[in-house]
Amino acid sequence: MPYFTKESAQHFVEETPSRSVLGGDLWGTAYPVASEVPVSGIYRCTGCGDEITSNRGDRFPPQNGHQHNTMLHVAWKLVARTKTK
Ligand SMILES: [Zn+2]
Repeated sequence: MPYFTKESAQHFVEETPSRSVLGGDLWGTAYPVASEVPVSGIYRCTGCGDEITSNRGDRFPPQNGHQHNTMLHVAWKLVARTKTK
């Protein structure tokens, strides 16, 4: 989980997924390895819980860019969307 302080918490805004201004199921989708990042933010690996920051338009890590010791499946879910121009 991303860490924050009492002071920095003021910069977080709860978003209702169904009312996201960006449309689609941004928060419920598990994005595959090397696919295009839909929105800038923090993403969590569904297999191991590792977190990454990624910018919109970039690609998620390739198959050899994020590996597990076991056969855990790698996919990325949005944890925090950033307000990035
Ligand atoms: Zn992982």
